[in-house]
Amino acid sequence: MLGQGKVADYIPALSGISPKKFGMSIHLISGERFSVGDFKENFSIQSISKIFTLSMAMALDDDSIWKRVGREPSGSKFNSLIQLEYEHGIPRNPFINAGAHVITDIVFSGYSETKLAILELVQRLSANKSIDYNEEVAQSERETGNRNLAMGYFMKSYGNIHNKVREVLDVYFHQCSLSMSCQDLSRAFLYLANDGVMPSTGEQIISKKDSDRINALMLTCGMYDSVGDFAYRVGLPSKSGVGGGIVAIVPGQMSIAVWSPGLSESGNSLAGTFALEQFVNYTGKSIF
Ligand code: GLN
Repeated sequence: MLGQGKVADYIPALSGISPKKFGMSIHLISGERFSVGDFKENFSIQSISKIFTLSMAMALDDDSIWKRVGREPSGSKFNSLIQLEYEHGIPRNPFINAGAHVITDIVFSGYSETKLAILELVQRLSANKSIDYNEEVAQSERETGNRNLAMGYFMKSYGNIHNKVREVLDVYFHQCSLSMSCQDLSRAFLYLANDGVMPSTGEQIISKKDSDRINALMLTCGMYDSVGDFAYRVGLPSKSGVGGGIVAIVPGQMSIAVWSPGLSESGNSLAGTFALEQFVNYTGKSIF
């Protein structure tokens, strides 16, 4: 499994990474943590960032989000345009790219310094002030991001992007470029295992209800177009990114981050998925 699959190569900054890298980190809400392999190595979190912005948007906006984005698995690729036309510029869910653009647009409307607000949240959740955007990755995303821009302008034509498309997409490309380790990520998402509260600080990041809802969306829409297979094999609310990272939540207990850059056809880490499957087989920690 390790070393197999295809490393994302749509931008040079991602293509040079060895598919043999593997790291895993587990943070328990009790404060204990366990890590293995390349768990301290930073990688591009890509679509995992969509959980941070969704949390911010839900904290700001509540139910009006769902007039602009759906809550169903898409059954198509994460960057598909065709479904958007059929569905009049309303993306199927907040984790496909178009849905994430709308969510970033909502966050953009809510914060004057949007990139800074996202970065500060991520640093606070991870307790790591050195986390930053990778400008080289963000710039490559922008230079090659024509399909993302096309989706943005298309939704703008339906009035579903409220701000300037290029400005919203600049934030989106930056959030995708966030460079973090498994250790940072598993700590950052503990609030989703603990009813919206960071266990170490007691800070309420989102309400319990929103935390439950984000977990539900991760379970049904978080793993691209193989979310059904992933639920069958692993059975945990999870979100992947094309950088090879996956975060998985065991509600009430722990947050897990795993990273290995070789991807399956649908864009999920092959070794990461296998590791989570083995973890659940050994521990019985699936939610089912
Ligand atoms: N930056 C990538 C894109 O927008 C992220 C995609 C992903 O991880 N699915 O295409």
